[in-house]
Amino acid sequence: MNKILVSSCLLGEPVRYDGSSKPLLHKLLTLWQQQGRIISFCPEVAGGLPIPRDAAEIVSDGSVLTVSGDDVTKEFELGAKKALSICTKNQIKFALLKEGSPSCGRNEIYDGSHQGVKVSGLGLTAKLLEENGIRVFSENQIESLYLKVI
Ligand code: SF4
Repeated sequence: MNKILVSSCLLGEPVRYDGSSKPLLHKLLTLWQQQGRIISFCPEVAGGLPIPRDAAEIVSDGSVLTVSGDDVTKEFELGAKKALSICTKNQIKFALLKEGSPSCGRNEIYDGSHQGVKVSGLGLTAKLLEENGIRVFSENQIESLYLKVI
């Protein structure tokens, strides 16, 4: 049975930059949890960043800067590499990641201005997983993921 890597915040874990979570209440996620298929992962915490932490966005040169101007690219890259490593070790081919995040965003991210402006793009973890053959879906695409993992 296919295991699925899931953003920890979607599972109700308070790991977001502001110490909150974004629980996804969906029957499919509940089913997959009951089946033992879910592996919870937060790339930013795995990369060594604290909770809470400053909000960060990807800027035009690809680096990741906090709202205070600190460069946290290395931490984001480390989190992405650890996510890939977990997928490789557990033969995970699918991920359900939180949309809009500079790590987990699948279709949209913020534009780097810290003004709340979204643009098309992938977060660092979502991008690295996709580049390595792991299909990434956002929480808004959970039904599409279901069709792949059944
Ligand atoms: S890095 Fe991903 S899992 Fe962690 S809080 Fe942000 S969106 Fe959620």
